Formats: sequence, C-alpha cells, structure tokens
Amino acid sequence: MRRMSYEPPNNAAVDRRGFLSSSLGACAVSPLGLLSLQFAPSMSGSLTKEQRDSMTPSQVIDELKKGNERFRAGKMAPRDYLTEKRSSASGQYPAAVILGCVDSRVPAEIIFDVGIGDTFNGRVAGNVVNDDLLGSMEFACAVSGAKLVFVLGHTACGAIKGAIDDVELGNLTGLLAKIKPAIPETKFEGEKSSKNPSYVDAVARTNVKLGIETIRRRSPVLEDLEKKGSIQITGAMYNLANGVVDFVS
Ligand SMILES: [Zn+2]
Repeated sequence: MRRMSYEPPNNAAVDRRGFLSSSLGACAVSPLGLLSLQFAPSMSGSLTKEQRDSMTPSQVIDELKKGNERFRAGKMAPRDYLTEKRSSASGQYPAAVILGCVDSRVPAEIIFDVGIGDTFNGRVAGNVVNDDLLGSMEFACAVSGAKLVFVLGHTACGAIKGAIDDVELGNLTGLLAKIKPAIPETKFEGEKSSKNPSYVDAVARTNVKLGIETIRRRSPVLEDLEKKGSIQITGAMYNLANGVVDFVS
C-alpha cells in the first residue's frame, strides 16, 4: 500500500519536510499518509483515503507537475494496473477531477502519469463546462473528497478551430457555442484565423480561464469549498508538440 519508490527532486523533499512539520503541528494527518504523498507508486495500489486526505490542493498540483515531468522524460512510474484495479475495487479516493478535451492525444492519466483510482476524468470536445460536468465535479469534491478541480485545454484544438470558424454541424453547433465567448475575450495581435496556430492556442487558453471562472460562478458548492481552502480550482494548457503542461494561474 505504500508508495515509496519515487525519489522526489530536492526542492520537493524540502517542501515535504515543511508540510510534515506543519501537519504534525496540526495533529491532523497520520504518519502513513505523510510518508506516501506521491502519485507515482512502484507496482503498488491506487491512492488510499489516508494518502489522498493527507495532501493539500497545492500538493496535488505538484504531484501532477511531477507526473508530467516523468512523462516528458520517458521515465514513467512502474505500474501494475491489476494491483491498482484490485486495490481500488472496494473504494476510490481520487485526488483531483480533471476536465479535458476528447482529443485522442490528450489522455490525462498518461500525460500526468497517474494510475487507476488516482483522478476523476471528464472529457468533452473543447473541455467545455456544462451542468452535468459541474455535477460530476461536485460529486468528486464534495462527496468523494477530491482536492483539485482542473481544466485541461490543449494546443491545436479542433473544437477551438471549429468555434473560430463558426462551424455548424448537428449537435456540435451547440457545443461550439459554449466555446465562442472565449473568442472576443482573447487579446491577440496578428491574424485572427483558425489557420494561425498561435491564435488558436490563445483562444484555447482563454477558454480554460473562462472555464475556471464558469465553474466558480455556476457552482456555489465548489466555490465554497475553494474559499474554505478544501479544494483549488485551476487549469492548464497541454502542448501537443513537446508534452509540456503550462499551468494558468
Ligand atoms: Zn481539443
């Protein structure tokens, strides 16, 4: 059940020591949880409740960053999916809920190197927010105890291009309408066209920021949890070319 294999960089070790002392001061976290913060197990099971509950929202973000670094370096954690399946079958304690795009090139579990049971994932073209996804996020955080709501956009997003081009097609028309508010909100010098990758990515970044704002505005449940410090709501842009996840603050 322990996750001891991943050797964090020095700065993370320092951060953990700081967290250790502050948490021990609060007498709120068990030693096992403190020893087992990483998402990166070595053939061990999924996150336990103790491990997940011992993490702060910012530590969850740090773990996602470290996972993305492992992915980019080609040094992903050794993983036994069958062990993760077994360990999570009787209960799940994911640390984050991630709203990403359906794009086949942006599987959150892989680009963050997390395992079965570690994150909730919702995927829809253009990572747009809707009532059902808000309900899913509320379940993830208010019921299940996840610490992070994370909106994940990406470069060269076809849905963003479709919104810029006013594409109309069946039910896609209504979906793209949810992206369109990002277009006038995007400040951009240069050709504002779906043919301009920089512009497409700028609109996608705005779309992530508006998604975060929409979550806060339309979910008092999540907004309250964030104000109390129980969760954090943030997001990032994933670069298809180099694998970098660029966090928006
Ligand atoms: Zn996309």
